[in-house]
Amino acid sequence: MPALLEVRTLWKSFGGVHAVRDCSFDVEAGRITGLIGPNGAGKSTAIDLISGFLEPDAGVIRFAGLDVQGRPAHRVARLGLVRTFQSPRVWAGLTVMENMLLAAPEEGREEVWRAVCTHARLRESEEADRAAGYLSGGQKRLLEIARFFQARPRMVLMDEPLTGVNPVLGARIGEGIKHLVAAGMTVLMVEHNLPFVERVCGTVIVMALGRSIAHGPLAALRSDPAVIDAYLGQVPARV
Ligand code: ADP
Ligand code: MG
Repeated sequence: MPALLEVRTLWKSFGGVHAVRDCSFDVEAGRITGLIGPNGAGKSTAIDLISGFLEPDAGVIRFAGLDVQGRPAHRVARLGLVRTFQSPRVWAGLTVMENMLLAAPEEGREEVWRAVCTHARLRESEEADRAAGYLSGGQKRLLEIARFFQARPRMVLMDEPLTGVNPVLGARIGEGIKHLVAAGMTVLMVEHNLPFVERVCGTVIVMALGRSIAHGPLAALRSDPAVIDAYLGQVPARV
């Protein structure tokens, strides 16, 4: 079985900066895969390229067997490949419930309303009627994850989901991400918090200087000299 996402010899430069250079990796379906590496390694650029927010200079991005490189983000999203940003994006002026309703495909919205009307817990939940703009960063992140349960993409790319999030909400975000996968979705997640990555990600891809230099379970990568040299050696306190 081919991987759900195949990245092959991907290149992207900004002027003279080779942000992504000859980068190749696979992401298997039904898993949470981590994408780690030092600052400036090209992780966010890779996420931008895969999700269609940037056009690659060269290379192949194959999603569910389709070549998607160069397609704009809205077309990639329609195939079920979506992403989050370093700061969570919600419709700030709408309530939490309205955010949820808008995430549901049109034919599913009636179902959401029915759930709202029948389940006392949801109906009476204080958060449901609150404008999403007033949520904390971590709560917005949880709302983003909740919306994925409505929208049911095949794959979610997350860029640093724990940035600016307190540890209590961080743990809930970890549980939310695990539930996405239990519900059949696939997740590729950029994250610097290595204990979190170790708890949540079965497998990890390491990027350095624009390319993927290693992959496997984080425990195994800890003794990989190339990984220690490029990344782990720089963050001993966190390992
Ligand atoms: P990471 O997410 O791993 O920290 P990035 O993908 O953000 O790395 O950046 C990789 C390199 O590309 C860095 O040197 C960064 O400064 C550069 N870069 C990223 N985006 C741009 C841009 N829009 N214009 C110019 N340089 C960029
Ligand atoms: Mg980044």
